[in-house]
Amino acid sequence: MKTVLGCIADDFTGATDLAGLLARSGMPVSLRIGLPDRPPSDTAPFEVIALKCRTAPVSEAVADCRAALKWLRAAGAQSFFWKYCSTFDSTAEGNIGPVAEALMSDLGAQQTIYCPAFPENGRSVFMGNLFVGEQPLAESPMKDHPLTPMRDSNLMRLLAPQVDGTTGLINRLTVARGAEAIREALEGLRDKGVAHVVVDAVADADLQQIAAACRPMPLLTGGSALAMPLPALYAAEGLMSKDQSTSRHPQVDRGAVVLSGSCSAMTRAQVKVYAEQSPHYRLNPLDLAKNGTAGAKTWLSEQSMEGAPLVYATAEPEDVCAAQAELGSGRAGEIVETALAELATVARDCGARRFVVAGGETSGAVTQALEVTRLDIGAEIAPGVPWTYCTSAGHPIALALKSGNFGSEGFFSTALAALEQP
Ligand code: ADP
Repeated sequence: MKTVLGCIADDFTGATDLAGLLARSGMPVSLRIGLPDRPPSDTAPFEVIALKCRTAPVSEAVADCRAALKWLRAAGAQSFFWKYCSTFDSTAEGNIGPVAEALMSDLGAQQTIYCPAFPENGRSVFMGNLFVGEQPLAESPMKDHPLTPMRDSNLMRLLAPQVDGTTGLINRLTVARGAEAIREALEGLRDKGVAHVVVDAVADADLQQIAAACRPMPLLTGGSALAMPLPALYAAEGLMSKDQSTSRHPQVDRGAVVLSGSCSAMTRAQVKVYAEQSPHYRLNPLDLAKNGTAGAKTWLSEQSMEGAPLVYATAEPEDVCAAQAELGSGRAGEIVETALAELATVARDCGARRFVVAGGETSGAVTQALEVTRLDIGAEIAPGVPWTYCTSAGHPIALALKSGNFGSEGFFSTALAALEQP
């Protein structure tokens, strides 16, 4: 099927989050892990390419995203979406702005918007400032993120050092006046040479108006929720039809494992709740650096996968700081990611076919280790987290890839229970 919308996501859970929201439309969504090494074939109306470039050097991230754009254009897409985290995770040398600028240049776009709002998950943008629930981003638990600590809440200030072009804002008062007002404001800013427009949104209705106003733009950028209104807009234009819709839900065997490398506040609560009722093993980066993964592998291979054991490196901020002080933050993260990736293959070889993985970077490492290159998107477990289906070493498997702060406290059990439903 010809691709209508081509999406590029800066990490794996971001990609599954976006793919899950697009799949709410009932249309087929295909997620490619990493840049496909073959030209497009067997494509879906919505194609999402998951890269692992959130914290990569800028030149590498830009090159990867440009290559992904080229592939999506070859698949037939004429509209494109650059998806980053709804908490705008990046550093001053971050990739959100440079990638947007490179894609705009390739597409000949003069202007794009930045809207990380995800109201269902408590992310809103007001007067250019990003909120997590009722807290400004810089006061939220994101201030302690191991790789991208967010110490400013103002999106224009975060974006400005990342782009060459001028930044501007369309605030909530304009958004509340609807699509036509937003379109006029965009034109006004374009006349003043403003290429990078942060747009406020606090509710799904705002996102609908924004998506409608920005429909002619070849490139939109934001969190996944901004893409949610797009399928209906395309359907209204006759670009896709109901007879393309499918509902895929393959059966996978019961063995399961939960792997958590996220230290986000919600994941910490999820690990605590799940560990109270299930076999669990804690990975300590300092111990891994000294003694390797043999102990964890032995423990895991002695477990029954029917009991869905949990392996986690999830830790409180002070423990993360202690490990980073000794190992360096990059190395600490890498050691944990590598360990969880190796343990994923051990679990698979011991019969696990259902994998719940917490953490964006962690999910990237795990899917890579399982040599998964394409996922078909299934039912949503929680907003932004669908079950996905693929094969690994010839076995049909199901993967739930959850980014740090998503899901509620019982998420791990809820996810596994969801697969039991017919
Ligand atoms: P999230 O989705 O919550 O951002 P990620 O997996 O993307 O989660 O990022 C968490 C990072 O923290 C990973 O690189 C992971 O390896 C690292 N990490 C996990 N546990 C620890 C720990 N105990 N000490 C230091 N770093 C850790």
